[in-house]
Amino acid sequence: MVKINKTKKAPKRITCQKHYQEGVVFETIRNDFYRKCYLCEDRPQDVHVEHFIHHNGNRELKYKWENLFYACSRCNNMKGTEYDDIIDCTKIDPEERIRFYYNCYPMCEPTFEIKCGDGTDQDKKTVELLEKIFCKPPTAMKADTAQNLCDALFEEGMDFLRDLKKYEKAVETGENIEKYFTYVVDHLSKGARFAAFFRTFARENYPRTYEKAMEKLVEQKVLPVESA
Ligand SMILES: [Zn+2]
Repeated sequence: MVKINKTKKAPKRITCQKHYQEGVVFETIRNDFYRKCYLCEDRPQDVHVEHFIHHNGNRELKYKWENLFYACSRCNNMKGTEYDDIIDCTKIDPEERIRFYYNCYPMCEPTFEIKCGDGTDQDKKTVELLEKIFCKPPTAMKADTAQNLCDALFEEGMDFLRDLKKYEKAVETGENIEKYFTYVVDHLSKGARFAAFFRTFARENYPRTYEKAMEKLVEQKVLPVESA
């Protein structure tokens, strides 16, 4: 989960309280959320415009711009009505409150740890939901889909680690530094799949590379680039 800078002004079409799943409203939400589910950070095949606070028939909540999020059907279903009080990533930066650990080294049993220290109830509730999504699925059916999600994350994670190693080597040899740095930056940009996990990993294990990548992303944002 990463901070989303949602377009401040609601698209006009939503103010008539008829449409939120199509046209410019949907496209704006999709772009704001980098075309990925804000909870699992994968690119959804089955997209839902989610109501962050369950509307329960309340028209104001149903069409309130700030209440519309981009999620996959699985996460939307798991969030249900039980998690209205998690971190709102359009207002709070989740990375300041939560760390996303994973281990995908070859020959090791893959592990996850999503943690928030002595955070608020809101932080703890967010961690609880993310754990359900990634590593503590509540049902056998959800366990199968959790496995698919983890496989995708580990595969992406292997790519990230490989590019990170190539970049570190390039720095040593002085060859292809920019090329591999660009790959690393791509993995760490907020628009990348599972970015929060890679950002935590880089921040704690390769702090200099992480800082440099963050500086690059700020520069790109100023230019601007779609997924900085
Ligand atoms: Zn999801």
